[in-house]
Amino acid sequence: MDVVVIGGGPSGLSAAWSAASQGSDVILFEEHEEIGRPRHCAGLVSGEGLKFIGMPCKSEYVENMVDKAIIAVDGFCFELRKIGEPIYVLNREFFDKAMADRAMNRGANILLKSQVKKVEMRNGKYIVKTEGASYSCKIVIDGEGAISRLASTMGLEGPMLRIPALQVEYKVKAPLENEVLVILGNEWAPGFFSWVIPIGDHELRIGLAATSDNCNSLLRRITKRHPLVSKILKEGIVKKIYGGTIVIGPPRRTYIGNFMTVGDAAGQTKPLTGGGVVYGAFCGSLAGIVASKVVEGKADTALYEKIWRKILGLEERLGLLLRETLISDDVGRLLKLVSKIGILSHVERNFHYEYHVRSIIKKPGILILSSLLLNLLSPTKAFKYFLQITLPKRRR
Ligand SMILES: Cc1cc2nc3c(=O)[nH]c(=O)nc-3n(C[C@H](O)[C@H](O)[C@H](O)COP(=O)(O)OP(=O)(O)OC[C@H]3O[C@@H](n4cnc5c(N)ncnc54)[C@H](O)[C@@H]3O)c2cc1C
Repeated sequence: MDVVVIGGGPSGLSAAWSAASQGSDVILFEEHEEIGRPRHCAGLVSGEGLKFIGMPCKSEYVENMVDKAIIAVDGFCFELRKIGEPIYVLNREFFDKAMADRAMNRGANILLKSQVKKVEMRNGKYIVKTEGASYSCKIVIDGEGAISRLASTMGLEGPMLRIPALQVEYKVKAPLENEVLVILGNEWAPGFFSWVIPIGDHELRIGLAATSDNCNSLLRRITKRHPLVSKILKEGIVKKIYGGTIVIGPPRRTYIGNFMTVGDAAGQTKPLTGGGVVYGAFCGSLAGIVASKVVEGKADTALYEKIWRKILGLEERLGLLLRETLISDDVGRLLKLVSKIGILSHVERNFHYEYHVRSIIKKPGILILSSLLLNLLSPTKAFKYFLQITLPKRRR
């Protein structure tokens, strides 16, 4: 066997697809009995993002389309209208199944109900052990998701932050607009945010992620007491409840020997939202191509890390800095200020759903202004995050 992929989410499935497309012999292990289940994701991705990962926009897995975000903070609302490609709401179960078909059509083998228990190095090859079977291979791509266990046994760190999340699907009476509601502020969702996403005319997902042990009571509080949310959910019926974990921030290394981590296991998400479908699938595809080149003796796994950091590294590092502002107690004050001096309308004009930071720093003046504001609000925080931005690069 050339390549073993662990995990049948978007990252692992993209890795299996690209490695098989390059002619490698690939096997992917997924612990559940079906791809895409259980569900945990809100499913928001942009049209640009889907193109970027080579998945067409199809009605079999696109549930809805949104063109506007309302950001509610401290009793105020800001509106960000999407100009250009729309934002899609995916049914992740069907989307992941389509990704699995894509990988199998290129010759990848997918084994379900097969949890990888252990990975060992023996005589220059990896031995991948599932319940009752062992497989020998040259390269391992680990796409275990947010709760990755195997990477640490190989000596790799996990993502910087793991944030618990909870999501509920509702059926509601009043028809829904094609807009996403984002609730910021530590009063409602400490350390992260809450969201309401329409998945149809009368159905929605409401979710919350917070650096708290009690997402359940925080989400219940929002549904009952938040003025905008309680109005939307009036006489709503709960259809499904599911939990999950959002990861933020990649570790210092995402490969060791011929073992590479991809997707949530490697912290490859957008730091402001934790959205990881597009980044994970992109990095998975890249890892698959590099794996095939390594098998042919034409590349080293270091190439994987070099390329993905070149493309997403700046977004990750500056995103962490901006995230610190969005979760601070001053977020309301700051957003009102930036709205007054025209930064929000600049962001709206340049907004790129996959590259949040680039939407803000397209003009160097805006970056200087934002960092000045951050400095005014909290010089120590700004300094700490300045170090965080610059240090990982030096350590590598
Ligand atoms: C509540 C919530 C809402 C979100 N909303 C969005 C959103 O709107 N947009 C967005 O882009 N992202 C969103 N995300 C993030 C997104 O879901 C992840 O970034 C994405 O699923 C990562 O893909 P992955 O393939 O790395 O991991 P996963 O999708 O988690 O897939 C990993 C797979 O590996 C399997 N596995 C794990 N260990 C083993 C093992 N040892 N052996 C075999 N199989 C194993 C797991 O069962 C799983 O199927 C959300 C996350 C949460 C929790």
